[in-house]
Amino acid sequence: MATILFSAKYERWESYETPLRDALADAGLGNAILTQKADPAEVDYIIYAPNSGVTDFTPFTRLKAVLNLWAGVEDVVGNPTLTVPLARMVDPGLEEGMVEWVTGHVLRHHLGLDTHIKGQDGKWRVGAPPLARDRHVTILGLGALGAACAKALVALNFQVSGWTRSPKSLPGVTCHAGANRLADALAGAEIVVLLLPDTPDTQNVLNAETLALLAQGAVVLNPGRGPLIDDDALLAALDEGRLAHATLDTFRVEPLPPEHPFWAHPNVTVTPHIASETRPASAARVIVENIRRGEAGEPLLHLVDRTAGY
Ligand code: NDP
Repeated sequence: MATILFSAKYERWESYETPLRDALADAGLGNAILTQKADPAEVDYIIYAPNSGVTDFTPFTRLKAVLNLWAGVEDVVGNPTLTVPLARMVDPGLEEGMVEWVTGHVLRHHLGLDTHIKGQDGKWRVGAPPLARDRHVTILGLGALGAACAKALVALNFQVSGWTRSPKSLPGVTCHAGANRLADALAGAEIVVLLLPDTPDTQNVLNAETLALLAQGAVVLNPGRGPLIDDDALLAALDEGRLAHATLDTFRVEPLPPEHPFWAHPNVTVTPHIASETRPASAARVIVENIRRGEAGEPLLHLVDRTAGY
């Protein structure tokens, strides 16, 4: 009988307990002990939020795996006390939410919605927006979330390019792989979406040099992670008018401090890390599938490559 420790903020337990118990029962694991408190020496699996307070895994002597509740693992991947497999969250609900957020913000900028929403000034502005087929969108990161967003944008007819570490092939997407192809992916992009993980290799991927590759008046959307952008270079590009707008959901420091220049900048939209989140109903099934696999001696899904950092 497996003992599963749910290690996350209390309010998360309230929303996860029932979906997890239902999924365990459906997987034939109804007799598992699912708890918020356990003797570490008796825990087989930890369902884990990196902000939950568990930072030392050493006392968990029987631990088989840590199942992250978040897609991002930068706060746990380098923990030297974690020696068992770490799975990240790949959740259809999380994916759906991200597709909606990204598509919505891409369309806002593509259609120039702000001009009409803010510009109720009696001026009759003629001219329809361009078609998506004439708009070049680049997505940095074509993983679970980036690939889903790319698919949605391709379905809307955008010209979509993407960038990954390893070679990828996605219908309708011009794919570039490897550090030496970043410039190709960014050249002439009018809207750039960051859906990379935060690793030593991805930090400051958008900097003065790479921002200069984008089309004049480009827009940056960052639902990925704050450290992907050199903030000073971004502000300089906005102030010089080379970038038209940045819509930022993630930041180096969260919550974004009130005095941070992003809040007051007329061409920056701040959203408070709400682009998407793990949805208990679907995420519980993903977590329990991994516990079922662990108990059956089958390989776990969505394992983090500890060397690559994601
Ligand atoms: P995945 O691990 O599935 O995908 C990551 C993608 O980034 C992959 O395509 C990977 O390439 C690419 N990548 C990683 N390192 C490099 C590199 N050095 N050079 C080029 N490409 C690289 O992650 P998800 O799609 O699930 O999530 C992406 C990120 O989104 C998360 O790490 C998290 O930071 C963020 N996120 C934000 C949320 C929000 O609400 N704002 C919610 C959830 C996640 P390859 O395919 O070759 O491996």
